Amino acid sequence: SWSSSDSVISIDSAGEALEPGRPYRVVLLGANGVGKTAFARIFAGAEDSMDTDECELCGDETWEKMIEVDGESATVTLLDTCDAETGSEWSQECHMQTGDAFLLLYSITDRASFLRASELRINLRRFRPAQHTPIILVGNKCDLVRCRDVSVSDGRACAAVFDCKFIETSAAMQHNVWEAFHGIVRQLRLRRDSKEA
Ligand code: GDP
Repeated sequence: SWSSSDSVISIDSAGEALEPGRPYRVVLLGANGVGKTAFARIFAGAEDSMDTDECELCGDETWEKMIEVDGESATVTLLDTCDAETGSEWSQECHMQTGDAFLLLYSITDRASFLRASELRINLRRFRPAQHTPIILVGNKCDLVRCRDVSVSDGRACAAVFDCKFIETSAAMQHNVWEAFHGIVRQLRLRRDSKEA
């Protein structure tokens, strides 16, 4: 379900396609209810619509947008996925193959979503064994301090094991959400620059 820009991508022999100018494909992964759609809405610029019916956005959705990070513009295609908790996990796994980078979300109020993030990280490694794929582990809903079920140090430790960056966010308070988007673009650029070198 990527946009029309798919047609102009050339894939090299390693299956890589990160030439400058091509949009970065960033995929939101995580259990249902962790805040992926809230993230996508902030990205899309519709942050006022957090209270609308969630079901209307069920199913995978993409947004493409030019954003400025460190004074340089980057085009990002953001994909919001639905986690299939039962049955086929085809959707998220399919995007594990096509994404350039991943925001792996859990809710700090929901231990099960934290464990789910670990499972998804392991699946990612299975699909992307050879590449150093940019990933940020995102502990969302940090505004819900009294319902906290996953400590900051647990999140940090998990990210260390998984060799990825870590950030806590609140989509509700719009806290650190853009930092997460900017962070993933920075990692993509580092990877691009090391390839060009
Ligand atoms: P998704 O299933 O991962 O797409 O999760 P949603 O974005 O639909 O969010 C699930 C619920 O959590 C919704 O009711 C959101 O309003 C709420 N939510 C999302 N992010 C936050 C957050 O940072 N803080 C709080 N308090 N609620 C949030």
